[in-house]
Amino acid sequence: MARIVMKFGGTSVADLDRIRNVADRVKREVEAGNEVAVVVSAMAGVTNQLVKWCQELSPLHDAREYDAVVATGEQVTTGLLAIALQTIGIDARSWQGWQVPITTDGAHGKARVEAIDGSLLIERMAQGQVPVVAGFQGVEPARNRITTLGRGGSDLSAVAIAAAVQADRCDIYTDVDGIYTTDPRIVPRARKLEKISYEEMLELASVGAKVLQTRSVELAMKQRVRVQVLSSFEDKPGSLVVDEDEIVEQPVVSGIAYSRDDAKVTLRRVPDRPGIAAAVFGALAAANVNVDMIVQNIGADGSTDMTFTVGKADLARARVTLERAQADLGHEAIIADPDVAKISVVGIGMRSHAGIANTMFKALAEKNINIQVISTSEIKVSVLVGVEYTELAVRALHTAYGLDGPG
Ligand code: ASP
Ligand code: MG
Repeated sequence: MARIVMKFGGTSVADLDRIRNVADRVKREVEAGNEVAVVVSAMAGVTNQLVKWCQELSPLHDAREYDAVVATGEQVTTGLLAIALQTIGIDARSWQGWQVPITTDGAHGKARVEAIDGSLLIERMAQGQVPVVAGFQGVEPARNRITTLGRGGSDLSAVAIAAAVQADRCDIYTDVDGIYTTDPRIVPRARKLEKISYEEMLELASVGAKVLQTRSVELAMKQRVRVQVLSSFEDKPGSLVVDEDEIVEQPVVSGIAYSRDDAKVTLRRVPDRPGIAAAVFGALAAANVNVDMIVQNIGADGSTDMTFTVGKADLARARVTLERAQADLGHEAIIADPDVAKISVVGIGMRSHAGIANTMFKALAEKNINIQVISTSEIKVSVLVGVEYTELAVRALHTAYGLDGPG
């Protein structure tokens, strides 16, 4: 017997037929003798609609009321799934975040989980009942207000609940059947990974692989929660996200991710003096603009070009900030280019193997793809290329690292 948290995303509960399908899946796990808690998202599209309504009424709406509105999507699916389960003879009960309770800080719209009391859920499971918990939701105890965890936050809810009830596994059911070496829509010969380490999954999630929310992977890694990603529509094993010690044959590169969410900014002819980087990035940080990749070349005539990437959504704010600081920073011009893609190769094998980055540069050179910016971490190399090369670059790298499966 195992204790399992099963999480179903928006597409898995998109209509009543799918909710019935989810109920059948839960029933199977229960009948196999497992203790089960379920976490659900809102029906596909519902949260988007709720967010839109708030924005339409007032772009600067009250954050506490925003949470009161957007948390309702999950309330609906908990109740519906509990009914569907009861209909097929499974004892089930819905739980909102405040009923568990899942306590968070007061950062409405993107609250952080502070504590989860798993005792009531554990008690119910021991009695043979299936708790159906609303993902995405929490409660802030000081003001006793409903909070939400940020878009995609029900993955985080599932992992946090799995940790709180000491589950043996957290199964994330979604519309893909696992974690792939890259996006199968771009590379049909992409392979499904049986296992991937927390570290790699965290890097992949943070650079654009969209299967799991980044914060949920962070938490799984911290709390050592075994996570499985699998399809709610097909009956086959998915991919496990686990400790790297559990992975016997570690490939050098495990996956290739891409993101078109970044924009490139170049500051032309910045005075090359001590403190200039602190001044530029200090101004951006103060404006809440996250900077990712950075290059600065050696200045020849006392000035230098500085290039970096920011999220596309932050580009306008970055530009205004830098324009305002121009007198201070002394740059000649700001050049913004949103037509870029970031391509990343990730693998824990990089720690012990040399030449990984060079394989990347060679493969891109062979396809005549110009690299604009490079950044590396212990287990990742990322390059920035023209957005029109996204697919070509991903395919070339997938082949170069020997990741192609049988065609
Ligand atoms: N329903 C929320 C969203 O769409 C949370 C989630 O599905 O993970 O962002
Ligand atoms: Mg999701």
